[in-house]
Amino acid sequence: MFHRTRFVLVESSHPGNIGAAARALKTMGCTRLILVKPRTPRAHQHPDALAMASGAGDVLARAEMAASLDEALADVQWSVALSARARRYGAPLFTPRQAAARARSLASTVEMAFVFGNERSGLSNADIERCRARVYIPASPAYNSLNLAQAVQVLTYELRLAEAARDSRLSGALAEPIRALASNEEIERMFAHFEQALLALDFFDPAQPKRLLPRLRRFFARTQLEHEEVSLMRGIAKAILQDRRIARVGIANQ
Ligand code: SAH
Repeated sequence: MFHRTRFVLVESSHPGNIGAAARALKTMGCTRLILVKPRTPRAHQHPDALAMASGAGDVLARAEMAASLDEALADVQWSVALSARARRYGAPLFTPRQAAARARSLASTVEMAFVFGNERSGLSNADIERCRARVYIPASPAYNSLNLAQAVQVLTYELRLAEAARDSRLSGALAEPIRALASNEEIERMFAHFEQALLALDFFDPAQPKRLLPRLRRFFARTQLEHEEVSLMRGIAKAILQDRRIARVGIANQ
């Protein structure tokens, strides 16, 4: 059920961890690994990766490469950032179990990705802002940073449990009608358009941003934007820009 789900490792440092992550995926029935700029080129062919992958060499061999997180997520509709650090403005925060329950209900209709950061610094704010949800694996406050492949294992184990718990009799009958979620690429374009409109309104002042854009991102992340809603928001941004242009021309003509 999660065979199309992407597991994206961003700028991983150790090929051994990439191999161990491939093994974690395969043991839980997942296969789709995407590497964004691993620190070692061709990390998936490195002897440490092959050794740690053990019987999951096929997952490593099929690993896809992406030049950026945007590229890896372009057509993804539900992307989840795994992070051990608290952020003030972020998308909704789930435990692995909660995220797995939602993933189960979306899996058949939606492109999904789980995104993991690198060993030293984790995911950047910009990476996390690109995702629709966040997952924190509850861990000891004294030391809450799991090894990368172990974080992959915990998450995929929950996906496995959620899949096993699915009650096929209920899921069809009671499911809400499913509307298409917007892709990350559509959402990034919407934010760019909206930023222009807010600038034109003088509502957004780049000299005094007051975290307006991250707060808007958080607001929209909570809504789990649908394709049609993105069109609506862009229509509003377009109308604002047209109106402002008319107003500016009006002032210039006075
Ligand atoms: N020192 C880094 C941790 C990197 S661990 C930091 O402070 O962010 C490598 C990756 O494993 C992280 O980027 C994250 O994707 C995942 N990870 C590790 N521990 C986690 C936790 N408790 N909850 C969620 N993800 C975690």
